[in-house]
Amino acid sequence: MTEPKQIPLEEQVKKLALDEGAALVGICSADSIKDKDFSDANFMLPGAQSIVSIAIPMNDEVVKKYLSKKDYLGLCHEEGHMTKALLRIGDKIKELLEGKGFQAFRCNINFNYRNINTTSKAIIPAIKELISLIDKKKDPNSELSQKEAKTLDRLKKMIFSGFKRSPMRLVPNFSHRCAAVAAGLGRVGWSGNVITEKYGARVLFGSILTDAKLTPDKPLEKNPCINCKLCEKSCQGGLFAKDETETIKIADVEETIAKRNNYGYCIAICSGMAGQNKFKNWSTWSPFRLDDVDRLPLDDSITEYVQNMYVKALEKGGKEAENVLRLIENSFLGRNHKPAEDFRPTCGCCQLVCGPDIKNKKESYNLLVNSGSTDKVPY
Ligand code: SF4
Ligand code: SF4
Repeated sequence: MTEPKQIPLEEQVKKLALDEGAALVGICSADSIKDKDFSDANFMLPGAQSIVSIAIPMNDEVVKKYLSKKDYLGLCHEEGHMTKALLRIGDKIKELLEGKGFQAFRCNINFNYRNINTTSKAIIPAIKELISLIDKKKDPNSELSQKEAKTLDRLKKMIFSGFKRSPMRLVPNFSHRCAAVAAGLGRVGWSGNVITEKYGARVLFGSILTDAKLTPDKPLEKNPCINCKLCEKSCQGGLFAKDETETIKIADVEETIAKRNNYGYCIAICSGMAGQNKFKNWSTWSPFRLDDVDRLPLDDSITEYVQNMYVKALEKGGKEAENVLRLIENSFLGRNHKPAEDFRPTCGCCQLVCGPDIKNKKESYNLLVNSGSTDKVPY
């Protein structure tokens, strides 16, 4: 009697991922991307040998409605549910690997940083108290007690000085992008986002680390980025330096991409604190404009500018302060365990305009630049 044929573990993992709803799946070795601090899998799973990379695409119509400012919450919910789906599929793969006697670790999807420690997290209740006292002080129908006024002064000193030191670069616990490139799901495009052959940049990635030595896939031979630079033109913040390039290397694949300016440009816009450089007549989904945001500075003084923006927004109270709180909660506590409906991106345009083909990219870009400003559409 012949022995039943054993299905290789790699195939079992990939079949499970696809059966559970992943659109793309691949495997890379941990060694191939361990050269960077943010993609060394040993940080999260000592002894990691392989990474399973998975991806889910966004719904095209939902993205277009977001870009054209016809519907905001549709994309918020879409990203929330995609995150939950990636976590669920990742847990299934982890279970399968553990069932075979291997160690496995399912990474969180987003907003999961190495340089945010427990002390930083403890600041959140203090920020909540500060906002409630600022709102009370501004309310003509209430008055702060002496004790509350003292607390307000103390919290302002403590929290504002903290914001004036906040870093502009957060280091992820594990880079899904590096794993996706090494595992052959896509290549890094002009914007620095990973571009897939079938969906462009409109995907979210997840990663599962394991000490199983799995046969790796190869990176894509051809980069699906067509250098249209519509991603660069979609950025209100100016993260991408015009006409300057930088070279990066992931798993021995070299890419020439747009040089990054200070990350403060993205934080100013993507955080919802600005949402618009006034020389453009359209905005992101930012819920407000700080009165004095006209043009963002064009040099590294953007760092100080952004640190001051946090303080100004908190001082204003109301929705500006709530926006800062949401940003800090997301960055410090992560979004992975929040309800799917609670996701609130305000930009992401460099990723979202990059649809599956050039026709879609051009159409998406036109929708965005003709979408007006959130000052003029119901938010
Ligand atoms: S928008 Fe164009 S240039 Fe930018 S990453 Fe996508 S394909 Fe590349
Ligand atoms: S997310 Fe928005 S602000 Fe940030 S780089 Fe992309 S387009 Fe620019």
